[in-house]
Amino acid sequence: MAVRGNSIIKGIEISEIVGLLNRAYADEWLAYYQYFIESKVTKGIMKDAVVSELTLHAADELRHANLLADRILQLGGTPLLHPQEWFKQTNCGYDEPKEFDVVAILQDSIKGEQCAISTYSSLVDIVKDKDIVTYNMVSQILADEVEHEEDLQALHDDISEFIFNIKKSLQ
Ligand code: FE
Ligand code: FE
Ligand code: MG
Repeated sequence: MAVRGNSIIKGIEISEIVGLLNRAYADEWLAYYQYFIESKVTKGIMKDAVVSELTLHAADELRHANLLADRILQLGGTPLLHPQEWFKQTNCGYDEPKEFDVVAILQDSIKGEQCAISTYSSLVDIVKDKDIVTYNMVSQILADEVEHEEDLQALHDDISEFIFNIKKSLQ
């Protein structure tokens, strides 16, 4: 454990930060898998655009898991070692895709991003002025999650409008 690096943390127990980061770490793995499997099963109109967005997001969530694991180790903690822990510690849970059409898949994913935004927003508040390194990391992840929500919502709205217009022109 980096002694000087961790000595600059003040006003919060390092074990508390590690616990919070591990919960976020569980979320990221579940989000990664959710995007991964959604990108495989999704079908319907404008599917290619949706699949490429889901695939990009899967890669981002895995990158987030990587950042969190490295920071947990820097803090002298241990990243969750067993996938069973992901379900025990997750904030946002796992939304198994039940309907595979693009609109339903996008709605599930938007819900997940909204939970991620809430989680990282409260993490940012907790470590602000206490642990600057973690603060910078979770702020960057938060910005990614905000972008994710926006990307998915924009796709969702485009597709919904397209479907609406098609239906109208067929009446
Ligand atoms: Fe993420
Ligand atoms: Fe995300
Ligand atoms: Mg995106």
